[in-house]
Amino acid sequence: MTSAEKFVAIDGPAGSGKSSVSKEVARRLAYGYLDTGAAYRALAWLVLERGGDTADADAVRSAASDVRLTQRLDPDDRRVVVGEVDVTDAIRDPRVSAAVSGVARVPEVRVGVNEMFRRMVADADYPAVVVEGRDITTVVAPDAPVRILLTAAPEVRAARRAGELVGADQASVAEAMRKRDASDSSVVDFLNAAPGVDVVDSTHLDFPQTVAAVLAVIERSRDADKEPNHGR
Ligand code: C5P
Repeated sequence: MTSAEKFVAIDGPAGSGKSSVSKEVARRLAYGYLDTGAAYRALAWLVLERGGDTADADAVRSAASDVRLTQRLDPDDRRVVVGEVDVTDAIRDPRVSAAVSGVARVPEVRVGVNEMFRRMVADADYPAVVVEGRDITTVVAPDAPVRILLTAAPEVRAARRAGELVGADQASVAEAMRKRDASDSSVVDFLNAAPGVDVVDSTHLDFPQTVAAVLAVIERSRDADKEPNHGR
């Protein structure tokens, strides 16, 4: 099995339900789970911790070359550690969310983290890994047997994000999200599905329905794999 075959690739914008849905799908199928955004966030955290600015590509590159990042593939262990520091909560801070797009804009850093993700999946003690991000279906694992774009209408995504952040008002959350999406989508297109990518639109779906829709796509891809003419 090549490492691409172990990928269940799920992309989508902030607030699409990507993380919670991907985690639940991994639990149901006893697969691993990899949140690629957490690696970008950990790098942004390190740049800020050093007093730097993520708009400075040199500061980002130097953080990327020094970082020792620990992330497990267990969907119930969301700990992220940089060196000896547990940054699990710190990387969700709005300060880090506002800075992370700067990290995402540095091409060499993307190449480096993508190699790390592919290695993690190849070495995983799981039959497959649900990998969620922005460019998994297109850049990290374009040959994955399952590739899904999880979308939702912008106002629904903003409401979901505001619900996750204590004390956040919806208008400022919507504005921060819009800014991050605009910056991120100039680097990789995660708002439109690439050819062959299945779209799951969660605008009118609740959480269990979205999980069911993603599981149905995975099931369909497995059935397609079993067809007698597959691969000829
Ligand atoms: O998924 P999450 O919102 O935690 O991602 C944080 C940031 O990491 C994104 O806003 C984006 O800048 C970057 N990212 C990326 N490519 C990925 C995953 C995340 O550029 N595959």
